[in-house]
Parts: sequence; C-alpha cells; structure tokens
Amino acid sequence: MSKIDWANLSFSYIKTDYNVRSYFKDGQWSELEESTSEQLTIHMAATCVHYGQEAFEGLKAFKGKDGKVRVFRMEENAKRLQKSAEGILMEPVPVDLFNKAVIRAIELNMDYVPPYESGASLYIRPLLIGSGPKVGVSPSDEYTFIVFVTPVGPYFKEGFKPTKLMINRKFDRAAPQGTGNIKVGGNYAASMVAGKIAHEKGYSAVLYLDSREKKYIDECGPANFFGIKDNTYITPLSNSILPSITNMSLVQLAEDMGMKVERRPIEFAELASLEEAGACGTAAVISPVGQIDDVEEGKSFHYGEPGEPGPISQKLYKKLRAIQYGDEPDTHNWVTVIG
Ligand SMILES: *Cc1c(COP(=O)(O)O)cnc(C)c1O
Repeated sequence: MSKIDWANLSFSYIKTDYNVRSYFKDGQWSELEESTSEQLTIHMAATCVHYGQEAFEGLKAFKGKDGKVRVFRMEENAKRLQKSAEGILMEPVPVDLFNKAVIRAIELNMDYVPPYESGASLYIRPLLIGSGPKVGVSPSDEYTFIVFVTPVGPYFKEGFKPTKLMINRKFDRAAPQGTGNIKVGGNYAASMVAGKIAHEKGYSAVLYLDSREKKYIDECGPANFFGIKDNTYITPLSNSILPSITNMSLVQLAEDMGMKVERRPIEFAELASLEEAGACGTAAVISPVGQIDDVEEGKSFHYGEPGEPGPISQKLYKKLRAIQYGDEPDTHNWVTVIG
C-alpha cells in the first residue's frame, strides 16, 4: 500500500486492497468471495445497465483513541438495502450476509482505516445490482452484491461551516409515489441536472419541494433536511424522502437532550420562522445551512451568524461524532466494535 496523506483526504475514491462479493444465482446466495480486482465483469444485457436495477448503501467505520474500529448502525443499513431491493424487485440481501460482508471488507482493509487524530474515516459502499441478462423489461434472475471501502477525509476541512441551498421548482428529485424513499441510483441520475445548476450558481445543494404541490419541504439533494425552533427538532414527513439513518440518530439525540421532536410536513413558508437549519447524512453528519434562496420568488432565508453554525446543530454534531469515534458511551447500541 502506498502512503496515504491522512490529513488531506477528500471525499473521493482511493484504491484499497480488497472488496467482497456474493452472487445470487439459481435461487441462492454464494459464499462471500474476497477480490483484489476493482473491475466488475457483467453481461452487457444486465438489468442494472439498461433498466436501473441498482441500489446502494453508505456507512462509515471510525478508529477510536483506543485503536478499536467502530461501524455505525450497520443493521439499519442492512434493513434499508432490503427495502430498496424490494422496491425495484431485486433479490434482498439477507441481513447476516450484509453484516458479514461489511465486517469482512473492513477487516481485509484495516490499514486503510484512518487514524483517530486525522478526523477522517473509512467509507463503506455496499452495492446490489441486477446482473443477469434481460431485453424485455422484467427483473433479473441473477444479482451481484459487492462491498468496497475507501478512506475519506473529514467533510469539513476548514471546520464546520454553514452552506447555501437553492430552491428550484423546475425540477423534482422523485415522484410523490415513486422511488424517493429507497436508495436507488435512478434517484441520483434524476437529480444531476438540478444539482449541476445549483453548483454553478454557488450553492452546495438543491432543497427540493414536494413534487405534488410544491408547498412542503422534501429533501436536500443527497441529505435529509431538519430545522430547529423553540427547542424542537423538526424534520419533514414525506413518502418521497429517503429515511436517513443519521436523521434517525439525531432525532434520538435531540430527545436525549430534552428537546421536542416533530416529524411532520413542513410548509415552505415555515422556513422563515426556523432558528437553525441543517442537512444530514453519513458523509457530513450535519451540514449547517446558513442561507436558503428561492430564486424564482426572490426570497432568501438566513440562519445564525454568518459563518457560524447554530448552537444546537453544533451540540448534535459533537455528540454524534463522539459516539462514532468511541469518545462517549454508546448508550443506544449503535456501534459494532471490530478488532
Ligand atoms: C443516503 C441518503 C441520505 C442520507 O442517509 P444516511 O443514512 O443518513 O446516510 C439522505 N438522502 C438521500 C437521498 C440519500 O440517498
């Protein structure tokens, strides 16, 4: 393995030594295989390539001060991949196989888990694809499940800084009764044009409104949205949002801190009365939101002091990171310790 500059990692792919794979064929999953190849050989008529039969997961492992490696809420990712599989008629990966594959992929690449001091972590990417051939539209008879890992840097290199979001009513990420609530690649393909426009205009992501009425807050690109007001953690309730495991964890931590929690439709107009806003997901934990611009209606919403995340967002962020790195006790049994 070549030397990795732990302090300057970004969120991008770096080759590691191994990945693990299992194949579903003739009604059963194969034993896990260890592979050193970064390539995947699949049939040119595979359903993932033509018809988007593809789902993925994203989770992280963290090295603690004690040298132990902790994986965060792996079973939740296993269950979510099963839901995603069912949503597009793929063969679900058994939870045991998922857990075994994630642990094996970490164990085989222990040298790539960034040291505690770097603030970096090991990103784990499980992938499930329809790999059997079909020309007519129908689900594949064969599936390939892969788990690879790659070390990633701390999301906020220059510290925990608020970002800007853009509302754009001309695009939807997911249909009201579509696939927004499962983690499939098709949702990401559908979000790329709006995402590109937002980035070109200097925004970090698109804040989507609900696609039926354009009245409620839906999702924030690849992250869930939350707001804070009156000591309450508020997050949208919608069928087209991906249930974020980070969000689920923040809900619990907010309750632990004595805050109220509301999961309900959030009207767009309510953005004006929030005290803090944030986007949450595995990559960043929390991305504090300092500004939301509604370009079409010429409105802007501002949160907190410029460049400063709100106090509750900071508290939630620190608490979750402390549990992930093993600095504070894991009272909810969220981490699996490896090695
Ligand atoms: C993965 C994902 C999230 C974040 O989920 P986590 O489990 O917190 O990482 C949010 N929104 C979308 C659309 C996603 O794909």
